[in-house]
Amino acid sequence: MTFIADPALRPIAHKVDEGIPLSKEDGLALLRTQDLHTLGSMAQRAKERKSGRKVFYVLNRYINSTNVCYAGCKFCSFARGEKEAGAVRMPADEVLAKALETGSNFNQVHIVGGHDPRQLSLDYWLPLMRRFKATLPHVQLSLFTAAEIDYLARRHRLSYEEILRDLRAAGLDNINGGGAEIFSERFRKLVCPNKVDTANWLRIHEVAHRAGVASNATMLYGTVETHEERIEHMIALRESQDCSPGYNAFIPLAFHPDGNELNDCGWTTGLDDIRVFATARLMLHNFDHIKAYWMIQGLKVCQVALQFGADDMDGTHGSTDEERIYHSAGTQSGQYVDDREFRRLIEEAGYVPVRRNSTYEEFPFDWTPAAEAASA
Ligand code: SF4
Repeated sequence: MTFIADPALRPIAHKVDEGIPLSKEDGLALLRTQDLHTLGSMAQRAKERKSGRKVFYVLNRYINSTNVCYAGCKFCSFARGEKEAGAVRMPADEVLAKALETGSNFNQVHIVGGHDPRQLSLDYWLPLMRRFKATLPHVQLSLFTAAEIDYLARRHRLSYEEILRDLRAAGLDNINGGGAEIFSERFRKLVCPNKVDTANWLRIHEVAHRAGVASNATMLYGTVETHEERIEHMIALRESQDCSPGYNAFIPLAFHPDGNELNDCGWTTGLDDIRVFATARLMLHNFDHIKAYWMIQGLKVCQVALQFGADDMDGTHGSTDEERIYHSAGTQSGQYVDDREFRRLIEEAGYVPVRRNSTYEEFPFDWTPAAEAASA
């Protein structure tokens, strides 16, 4: 490491080089520094120790099966009452048909939805998951968030161990990272009091890992959280990973203000976004991947994030997929990016594009389900 303009980063650079876990104070210095050159350089070195020159993406189908929800999170622009205009509740047949609408050349289906009292039940999901696995055996199921699993467990009066055993047996490969928001109880009381609490969010992921289900973790930033709460959130995840390994990616989610109660918070800035990516890469030494999700951050910020510690851009969507959570909140990203565009953006950033599935197995560029069947 050469010249470091911000003296607060000098001891951190030493720790990063020696592989010493960073403290809360280190995290705060990273989030607040103006020395982006040093920050990016440290984060890039940490990224390259994990994944070398690779940057990952997945061939994905993305579905929001229902937006009916009564949890009332203040940052949410997606939820509707069941009789409200814009309410969408897809029957199981429609979810499967939607996934297949543009063929079967994908290896992950990503589905999340609201706490819908009619749809979010094992009677709906277990048969649908088995049908997915029977119809698309090459596809991994990345379903639910811990908030949805908590809802399911309470609804069916099952323990987390029991519900995750049942979901795993029906084909669940990965739990999505949502519902984490910010782990501080102050924040949750204020912003999302009806959602799973921090201790249970973490416990669901830990139980899932022990049941053979992988997961990701998110952090919603840019509302009323403090910098201290962001860093405490990352440290809680780091400790959870030590206790029960199984998280693959950490995904920072920039708040989007349109159409929700936290509209006054406004948009995050490009510099805040970049600092969060780099800080996450440096704080979460035991997470293999930091994901810059193009749907949320936009392709341009994501490409820059690859120079600040991110090594994943999420993935393609089907050309008829319709993401509703961030599009209801004002994202300017489109609905669809193809394989060629991912490769172009990653290569231009100086990295090697690698296709993956939910659990980060790698796939060649000429992969198709037919080619996979022929080589089996
Ligand atoms: S964020 Fe999720 S749980 Fe909260 S209101 Fe929106 S859909 Fe419901």
